[in-house]
Amino acid sequence: MITRRLVCGCLAGAFPFANTVVQAQSLECAVFTPDRQKATAPDEAISRLKAVNERFTAGKSTNCDLMAQVRETANNQSPFAAIVGCIDSRVPPELVFDQRIGDVFCARVAGNFVNTDIIGSLEYSTKVAGAKAIVILGHNFCGAIKSAVDDVKLGNIAALLQNLQPALATLNNSDGHRDSHNDPLVQKVAEANARLTTASLTNRSPILKELVDAKQLTIAAAMHDITTGKVTWLS
Ligand SMILES: [Zn+2]
Repeated sequence: MITRRLVCGCLAGAFPFANTVVQAQSLECAVFTPDRQKATAPDEAISRLKAVNERFTAGKSTNCDLMAQVRETANNQSPFAAIVGCIDSRVPPELVFDQRIGDVFCARVAGNFVNTDIIGSLEYSTKVAGAKAIVILGHNFCGAIKSAVDDVKLGNIAALLQNLQPALATLNNSDGHRDSHNDPLVQKVAEANARLTTASLTNRSPILKELVDAKQLTIAAAMHDITTGKVTWLS
């Protein structure tokens, strides 16, 4: 009994800030509710994504009880953002933005372009489900971009790469030899793809345009650096 008292007292004294830490973490681990989503302005959604990527690159990703989040989102989801990213295994949006169950919608396709299906998914994410921001997330050293630069002809990949033609069309003679080993050229195409894809959304979707015009939605382009984990914002 004495031993038990001593242990309890010792633990309480050894971790005087334990309650503070738990409270801070539980706040970050709180799932997005309809009210919390509604109270998040579009610019705040982008600011949040910037902040959480900084947390990720600082090695301070939050450790949450995922099963508790599963239970808390079982009957409803209210994500604050939607992200379109590449399938690249080094760029999982939920990890680089330190997000978890119920936080963000995520569509992934090699080369992070959009088509009718993905635009429809983004319309659902925002107009129907209330997300306040869309991020088109490109990345450096992208295999899909490199394949497009090299004009790869292989199975269905060739058709997929056609979606990157608008970005390829931004190249000019000053960019040097069109080859996937030309790193600056590949980076230029990847950034152009992120920017053009972002710009195309309001042109291709009256629903998204209406939300942007009403200041209920922000659409941004960003690039993830696979060597550092850092996300740089293009717009
Ligand atoms: Zn990629």
